[in-house]
Amino acid sequence: MSAIDDLPPLREVIRRHALAARKSLGQNFLLDLNLTARIARAAGPLEGATVVEIGPGPGGLTRALLAEGAKRVIAVERDPRAIAALAEIAARYPQRLTIIEGDALAQDLAALIEGARPARIVANLPYNIATALLVGWLSLEPWPPWYDMLVLMFQREVAERIVAAPGSKSYGRLAVLAQWRTEPRILFDVAPQAFVPPPKVTSSLVRFMPRPAPVACARAALEQVTAAAFGQRRKMLRQSLKSLGGDPLALLAETDIEPTARAEDIPVAGFVALANAWVRLRAKPA
Ligand code: SAM
Repeated sequence: MSAIDDLPPLREVIRRHALAARKSLGQNFLLDLNLTARIARAAGPLEGATVVEIGPGPGGLTRALLAEGAKRVIAVERDPRAIAALAEIAARYPQRLTIIEGDALAQDLAALIEGARPARIVANLPYNIATALLVGWLSLEPWPPWYDMLVLMFQREVAERIVAAPGSKSYGRLAVLAQWRTEPRILFDVAPQAFVPPPKVTSSLVRFMPRPAPVACARAALEQVTAAAFGQRRKMLRQSLKSLGGDPLALLAETDIEPTARAEDIPVAGFVALANAWVRLRAKPA
């Protein structure tokens, strides 16, 4: 019997359902239910909450979310082998666990929560699609989104790119998007040995709190400006912003950013100002 519920230990679940981890599905399972409970608590309090979990696998985090009091968990899993194992959890927590078999990248999660707003997303993400999923959630329109919190496990290197400050090597497009729309924070690291099989790198749990009113900015323009600036991160902006088309000096003159500055030195507010200036300049008649 495990510490958090009366379901069998995860090793037994994996053996019984022949759930040997597959690299192609980014499967690194957490079998320590105390650790999954710690992750669930980081997303708490969960009483009354609707939680979307991506990639429940054998269900260690799913069980923790339910044991911590989530009213409802909607779990999206691509691996058909895991569905029977998850059905056993659903039977233990009647009416509280909905299992969706499919690709999380192709799901309309807002529709899955059936109006239970705000919901939250909690996941030990498959690392091969973690950034794609995150960028999708950070790019939702309208803003604020349907979730009130994201609690997600990433490779440490990705977590550092998310929370990076200007001037650091990790600072780039992901930091600008994440910090413009949310307040991201690394909560704690998880050593490779906590996973089965152990990945090559340390992981980090990151919590994102959506900003209710980020500084107004056209997201597509922000993405284009940061793509141009960080596409040549060592070049001065008067050079790197040429790839946008138009005159970078005219664009920079609309802001108080020096033409000789480089992308990695510009704070998020500076990129927002650049994106807004770019939209204004494009709207001007030639
Ligand atoms: N939550 C479990 C845990 O913590 O032990 C498993 C986490 S494992 C890192 C990632 C999970 O995501 C696996 O169960 C894998 O099958 C699933 N997965 C991979 N690609 C997926 C996709 N495109 N959509 C939904 N689930 C996916």
